[in-house]
Amino acid sequence: MTDFQLVLRGYVKFVSTDVILKIAVNVPLSREFDYRPPANGPLPIAGCRVRIPFGRSQRIGMVLAHASESVLPAEKLRAVTTVLDEAPLLSAADLWLIRFTSDYYHHPIGEVVAAALPALLRQGKSLQPTVVSVAVSAAGAAADVAAVAKRAPRQAELLEILLDAGSNGLDTGQLTAILPTWRRAAVGLLEKGLIAKRNMRAAHFDESLSAGAQHGPTPNKEQQEALSCLRRSDNFGAYLLDGVTGSGKTEVYLQRMRDIIDQGRQVLVLVPEIGLTPQLIRRFRERLGIEPALLHSGLTDSARLAAWRAARSASASLIVGTRSAIFTPLKNAGLIIVDEEHDHSFKQQEGLRYSARDLAIARAKHLDIPVILGTATPTLEMLQHCRSGAYEHIVLSSRAGGAKPPTIRLVDTVRSPVTDGISEPLAEAIGTHLRANGQVLLFLNRRGFAPTLICASCGHIAGCERCNSRLTVHARSKQLRCHHCGACHPLVEHCSECGQAVTPLGEGTERLEDSLRLRFPHHSVQRIDSDSTQRKGAMDEALRSATAGDADILVGTQMLSKGHHFPKLTLVGIINADQGLFGSDFRSSERLAQSVVQVAGRAGRESRAGEVLIQTAFPDNTFWATLIHGGYRQVSADALAERELTRWPPFTRLALLRSAAHKQADAHHFLDVARRYIESQSAAALRILGPVDAPMARKAGRYRAQLLLQSSDRATLHNTLRYLRPALEVDPAARKVRWSIDVDPIELF
Ligand code: ADP
Ligand code: ZN
Repeated sequence: MTDFQLVLRGYVKFVSTDVILKIAVNVPLSREFDYRPPANGPLPIAGCRVRIPFGRSQRIGMVLAHASESVLPAEKLRAVTTVLDEAPLLSAADLWLIRFTSDYYHHPIGEVVAAALPALLRQGKSLQPTVVSVAVSAAGAAADVAAVAKRAPRQAELLEILLDAGSNGLDTGQLTAILPTWRRAAVGLLEKGLIAKRNMRAAHFDESLSAGAQHGPTPNKEQQEALSCLRRSDNFGAYLLDGVTGSGKTEVYLQRMRDIIDQGRQVLVLVPEIGLTPQLIRRFRERLGIEPALLHSGLTDSARLAAWRAARSASASLIVGTRSAIFTPLKNAGLIIVDEEHDHSFKQQEGLRYSARDLAIARAKHLDIPVILGTATPTLEMLQHCRSGAYEHIVLSSRAGGAKPPTIRLVDTVRSPVTDGISEPLAEAIGTHLRANGQVLLFLNRRGFAPTLICASCGHIAGCERCNSRLTVHARSKQLRCHHCGACHPLVEHCSECGQAVTPLGEGTERLEDSLRLRFPHHSVQRIDSDSTQRKGAMDEALRSATAGDADILVGTQMLSKGHHFPKLTLVGIINADQGLFGSDFRSSERLAQSVVQVAGRAGRESRAGEVLIQTAFPDNTFWATLIHGGYRQVSADALAERELTRWPPFTRLALLRSAAHKQADAHHFLDVARRYIESQSAAALRILGPVDAPMARKAGRYRAQLLLQSSDRATLHNTLRYLRPALEVDPAARKVRWSIDVDPIELF
């Protein structure tokens, strides 16, 4: 080993009489950096940001701790340039979570700090920044917009937006969100004196709501039992609230939230996607009579910082956010809720690959507060924790308010073939429900018009040049798109190989939409997928109209299956469930059952009974019989037994090392190196599988390979990764690849 490597690995230490600052810097290296305090001024304590010289530039770092020894001799230590925070931004408990995340996921601590801070703080802005706002001047307020529009339509557009915003105007972040090109138009309007710039205090969070809290229904027996179990302790406990869809889980949350908020403590609620949960947020607001502080990616930087600050100072008692909100500082935390525990969006799949659900449990334990994990389809991990007695299993077995569970029926698509995705039995059922004034939801987890474009003459299939994948036909935008790398080409009519006509094969949501319009011309059809809801506000509007029952038939992807309550919905049709039946991943059947049960749960949530039709070419597959007769409970019990036999999680622990490179050999070589490191050091208890090509061996022009590590205990795996990561960071093989470590991966590719 070179001296440099010895130093990097911390084998050499220098003791100093002065304080040494251990600083996290946002770079992809698993280490902290040592600095001297600034020459004059206060000594920054842990949790304060500092500006530091780093290489030849200046960077922002976060002080993690004080120390008396360093890997560098005193004369080589550089001093902090400036201290950015007088008081720490992050408390000891917040720093604990950051360190835990870095250790558990084997990810550089500087990058964890960066993920935990709102963008403005990461950039070094103050906790209470001033922002530039733009508003109409007196002249602008009196201006004739039509006259401006004749000469300068862009300026008129901006002027109109600012007239709507009133005298406070909009800050630059808000403007960029509304009109990304506003800066150019602003120049002209400023010259004419129609608008003016001002420095303002940044957005401020205000929790008060004028309307009082509304009363909810009286809890039924199961809800009462759930609540008395939850109320037994305000200290740490993990509670799996396992309730069928519509069983009143949210009511249970609300009552427990009320208790905690009345004690003057804060509640953090993690949800899969804020855009999909406006109904839930409205319910929190109305029932608790307070405004939740929202944290999600759709906010402007300054609004996000305002919510973060409100959580940190406890001026917000309810914080609702997506995945990354798990890092929000809480001055006085009393409860964490993870809604839809099974949802994959809680796991970040790139960069820092953390599970917000698992961090929620770790954080609750550290803070000694309860955590509630709610779902109708618990993951096997959570169920196993309940079996072992570590977590409390609370079951709500029937729908609240008297709604009946939906009946599930299979349609054999071999005997009743589909036309444009729809079999005759399904078409009949749609007709029956529509005539009875019910709403229909058709679920197909494939957007676009058709997943394949094939030449009828030579059989050539349009594929992506950069991935091992087919191009999806998008009829609305007349494009061929790769859903893996985003590549986009104009839609062609003739085969690139032989020049004959090509045909779209299979169906996506667009084709299904067209076919429904033809079959049911007197009914309105609404498609809801990520293409139809791209425009800002489109998702809210689509959900509003779906809930109001404006659309008779809804066609949608996964995003329609999550947590919505459509009162008029009585029929759910699952267009193609077979992809999941033969999946290669050990989680396939768990996933398929979750997805079917979640989407089925949208049917018949009010007084009218719901029906679910599943189209499958394999109606005799035992999976269906188990699901229909035993429900999710039986499917998950069977799957758990199988995992125990086959030694997959939750009975073993996994970590996946991935690499990607322009040359296939480089991707594999890196993992060979990793394998040798592991073999040279680790216990026999660790199983190493690979390296092998990833299931999609080429994506976005890079060859991908992976190495799976499996162990029956967590310690073996983590001890291995602890030294593997820093070793790989400095290995020459790493220079040619992009690589990552994924602890507890949920996708094995
Ligand atoms: P989940 O979160 O489990 O899907 P919700 O809490 O949204 O269930 O409840 C489903 C529906 O049942 C809602 O309309 C809710 O108002 C109603 N509901 C819940 N609990 C009760 C109850 N105890 N009595 C009557 N209606 C209830
Ligand atoms: Zn591609």
